Amino acid sequence: MLDPFPATRSAALDRLDAFSSHVKRYAGTRNFIAAGHPHVSRLSAAIRHRLITEEEVVRFILERHSFSSIEKFLQEVCWRTYWKGWLAKRPGIWLDAVARTSNKNNEPSDLARDAMNARSGCAVMDEFTNELRSTGYLHNHARMWWAAYWIHHLKLPWALGAQFFLDHLLDADPASNTLSWRWVAGLHTPGKTYIARPDNIARYHPQHPTAGLEALHQTQPSIPVDHADLTTHPLPRCPASIDNSLENFTLLVHAEDLSIEHSNLAPSKPAAIVFLDHRDSHISAARHAWLDTVIADAQQRLSDHYSVPITTIHQATELPQWLQQQQVQHLIAMAPQVGSLADALFPAINELTQCNNCQMHWLQRPWDQDFYPAARSGFFPFWKKVSRAPIFHPQEPQQVFAF
Ligand SMILES: Cc1cc2nc3c(=O)[nH]c(=O)nc-3n(C[C@H](O)[C@H](O)[C@H](O)COP(=O)(O)OP(=O)(O)OC[C@H]3O[C@@H](n4cnc5c(N)ncnc54)[C@H](O)[C@@H]3O)c2cc1C
Repeated sequence: MLDPFPATRSAALDRLDAFSSHVKRYAGTRNFIAAGHPHVSRLSAAIRHRLITEEEVVRFILERHSFSSIEKFLQEVCWRTYWKGWLAKRPGIWLDAVARTSNKNNEPSDLARDAMNARSGCAVMDEFTNELRSTGYLHNHARMWWAAYWIHHLKLPWALGAQFFLDHLLDADPASNTLSWRWVAGLHTPGKTYIARPDNIARYHPQHPTAGLEALHQTQPSIPVDHADLTTHPLPRCPASIDNSLENFTLLVHAEDLSIEHSNLAPSKPAAIVFLDHRDSHISAARHAWLDTVIADAQQRLSDHYSVPITTIHQATELPQWLQQQQVQHLIAMAPQVGSLADALFPAINELTQCNNCQMHWLQRPWDQDFYPAARSGFFPFWKKVSRAPIFHPQEPQQVFAF
């Protein structure tokens, strides 16, 4: 039997293979909620942590289907890239979300606590809450309805709801989550809100429980004031591979890229690997358990591939001392995206590089290098540009691609 939410690379590849036979029906069925979620891939947690990459998913599917028959699925895979590129240019949005939830004076109200504990009185929302808490997954439509119910019906702070999702989702992604919540709130596309309507829920979730649903007819939009700094910053540019002459370096691996041995770093020969297993403090037991399996799988693959010792560190603040003790002169890592891992890691690396002879080499996958710059305005202009890239047209003669 396939894992419900693949927690190893081989399980994720099996899921992709199995889903490939459904993908042509994806556009017509993806919005419907059914038991076990057969209409969607449930690959998001695996892709978020790069047990398998977006590029691998796209290549695999396009080896079996024509672009036009599965474009909707390709678009959805690229929504993550769009959100990541968008947030990378506007880190102030993430800082605002963090500030809103880290203020100890903003303790959740009784209303918020009831909603987070499946006691909202709206049975279908409580069903989703229970599913999120027990499995770490919600269908995209359920996420939209739940966020809309929280913001516009219960009039609760969007950032608190977003944090609740980050604590429980196996695929918790600072970019997809924060920006989707802001989109529902009407902050991403100013003035355009998303409201959960009973008829829409009934159509796409035919088995929904009905208690308390009628009240949703009265929901009026409630657009929060945006305090985020929306200034755009240049994208950090990192190379895609290391200088071949570099010797005696250590690889720093973290949970934002768990298939390093399937990257440009595959042929490299690190002297050692340090694995930063950073976890946010409030994450659920289900997410901890899933990450335990995912990280054990990644470490096994790293060990098989590179045959060097792997040291696990849990706090980024422990890194400088460890690297100093090991006299590491060159440290190589995939650059983390805007989010809590980067918030923990960058100060530690700055401390290290300022006080020591250790040089940090951040890398980026070519996928991110190529596509983040296109996340300039809306998703569809982004898709128009990105979908011209040769990877989406494997049957055509390959050309050099640049925006
Ligand atoms: C309020 C809200 C919060 C969300 N928070 C997260 C989050 O923390 N992490 C996260 O990964 N996704 C988030 N999403 C996006 C989306 O709901 C999930 O990626 C999707 O439901 C995952 O299920 P799946 O793998 O079965 O998707 P499928 O429908 O099978 O899609 C295939 C792949 O495309 C990507 N994808 C699909 N839809 C989206 C989308 N809307 N945005 C970004 N990528 C997408 C995922 O990698 C997914 O695995 C959020 C959406 C909303 C509305």
